[in-house]
Amino acid sequence: MGEPGEPAPHGREGRRGDRPAAAAARLVRTVAGIREVREAARERRETVALVPTMGYLHEGHFSLIDRAREGADLVILSIFVNPTQFGPGEDYERYPRDLDRDLALASGRGVDVVFAPDEEEMYPVPQTIWVDPGELADRLCGLGRPGHFRGVLTVVMKLFQTVEPDVAVFGRKDFQQSVLVRRMVEELRMPVRVEVAPTVRTDDGLALSSRNAYLDEAERAAATSLFRALRAVRRAFAAGEAEVGALLSRARRLMEEEGAEVEYVAIVDPDELTDLGRATEDAVCAVAARVGGTRLIDNATLGGPEEL
Ligand code: AMP
Repeated sequence: MGEPGEPAPHGREGRRGDRPAAAAARLVRTVAGIREVREAARERRETVALVPTMGYLHEGHFSLIDRAREGADLVILSIFVNPTQFGPGEDYERYPRDLDRDLALASGRGVDVVFAPDEEEMYPVPQTIWVDPGELADRLCGLGRPGHFRGVLTVVMKLFQTVEPDVAVFGRKDFQQSVLVRRMVEELRMPVRVEVAPTVRTDDGLALSSRNAYLDEAERAAATSLFRALRAVRRAFAAGEAEVGALLSRARRLMEEEGAEVEYVAIVDPDELTDLGRATEDAVCAVAARVGGTRLIDNATLGGPEEL
């Protein structure tokens, strides 16, 4: 369904402004197909927003879709579990996938087009040219996941080249990724505006993630310790503690008490991701920990209005 030349299920002409709330999203599985969608939008002088995801959609993704909807006429959601950003022994095979479910959810949220290429379509020849993320990938998650950000930036670059969006929306939950994507776009002068939307959490603070599906009940409770550690750091900072060592040991203790296996906890410069000696309002506290076998990440700015 939805391949080149076929009309969208509900027709799109003249829909700007009076778009029905739950029109079915059109599924496009090929590069040629999405290029046609893009070209048709250009002819209609519609702006295009891209929301790149690996699917198994949740409210975090929906918030990016809402942001995209605000800033563009046509919203394209990509779903691709990108093999080149997974290391050996990571959860590439196990990663949750359910395209039918995602299509129904995306339709309900006002996505116009779901671009869901398969691996052959995204990597028709073995990739030999890569985006090198440089030293920003030698910190935080990059230390435990060598090659991860090279895979991420390369696939994001390929998606941008394929879809040619005016705007692309990413989540703050993957903080290092958002910094790297912004830098790539800036330094390589890519003609796309990058927006970063806040982290969506459950009522008890857990950052939504497709990987939360791996957690059993006890692990899910322990997983909230990442959020509680960030909140404790923010509160201690607000109460006058600016010594990074003290803030970090408090956060680490809180997570370890819950049985989380801490991979890193760091307080870093928000642009360079370098460790800071003294905490500042705009510094970011970033954590990664394993709960059961599941690797989770979270982050928060130390000062400011973020609601933690
Ligand atoms: P993923 O499907 O996990 O690769 O995520 C796709 C996009 O959704 C990325 O830009 C993520 O940062 C963003 N995202 C994932 N979880 C959340 C969340 N809880 N809140 C906001 N954005 C999120």
